[in-house]
Amino acid sequence: KRKQKEMRILMVGLDNSGKTTIVLKLNGEDTSVISPTLGFNIKTLTYQKYTLNIWDVGGQRTIRSYWRNYFEQTDGLVWVVDSSDLRRLDDCKMELDNLLKEERLSGASLLILANKQDLKGALKPDEIAKVLNLENMDKTRHWEIVGCSAYTGEGLLEGFDWLIQDIA
Ligand code: GDP
Repeated sequence: KRKQKEMRILMVGLDNSGKTTIVLKLNGEDTSVISPTLGFNIKTLTYQKYTLNIWDVGGQRTIRSYWRNYFEQTDGLVWVVDSSDLRRLDDCKMELDNLLKEERLSGASLLILANKQDLKGALKPDEIAKVLNLENMDKTRHWEIVGCSAYTGEGLLEGFDWLIQDIA
């Protein structure tokens, strides 16, 4: 357990899942707080009292050793899914499974955001949970899945409230 101001959250998912848009929405559209770090698609920003690191996974295996620097002291993981991109759900599952194997992330609470719920044809959170096989997650992992839309803002606070409460 940590003091709130030390909380570190890693936001990850395939590219195009909506990570940047979610953060902008959380920040009230203030883009100025987002600055690219180190030139490989990791962004760092401060949200309320929290440090958020955001990055795209997939297709970047050569830099995986760098990602590990970001795993240290990660309290919370936010995994963002494009619920309307059925074609890439297998990819999404594989990358999530890989990430969760990281020993340094073993204590991190996991929030899965089933994003883009505003789109027709988007899978519902329980359907996403099935595809990602969340029921068979390691029993020690704290996790939750919440449907959301970065466009409407639906679900975002519910999700982050859960995460922050679970960590605190
Ligand atoms: P990132 O690569 O994960 O950072 O994804 P972005 O935030 O750049 O979003 C990728 C695309 O999806 C952009 O065109 C966004 O406008 C769009 N997008 C993000 N969130 C939503 C959402 O909740 N609903 C819809 N309809 N589109 C979204």
